[in-house]
Formats: sequence, structure tokens, C-alpha cells
Amino acid sequence: MVKVNENLCIGCGACVSICPAGFEMGSNGKSHVKDGNADCVEAAKKACPVSAIQ
Ligand code: SF4
Repeated sequence: MVKVNENLCIGCGACVSICPAGFEMGSNGKSHVKDGNADCVEAAKKACPVSAIQ
């Protein structure tokens, strides 16, 4: 199961840019998972600068 660790997320938006099907920005400025089964989730995970997608 894919999760965004909100304690690590710096809200850079990279995951949303790379994988809009999988992630969206929350009102707290942190990313959260929209669809953990989206094909692009793995690419977003690799692109996260703080490894917040776990
Ligand atoms: S790429 Fe990582 S740090 Fe940036 S918004 Fe997504 S989860 Fe947060």
C-alpha cells in the first residue's frame, strides 16, 4: 500500500506533476495518495526528493 509520509513531505509538488492520477495536493500543502494503483506511482516515488512516498 502506498502512503505519503506527511512528516517528510515538503510539498514540492513533484509527485503530482509526474503522477496526477496517483497524487493530489491536500489543503495542508502536503501530497496525498489519490490512487495508489496508478501506473505512474513508482516513478513519483523515485522522484520524491525526501523519499516521503512509502
Ligand atoms: S514529491 Fe515528495 S515531497 Fe514533493 S509533494 Fe510529493 S511527496 Fe511531497
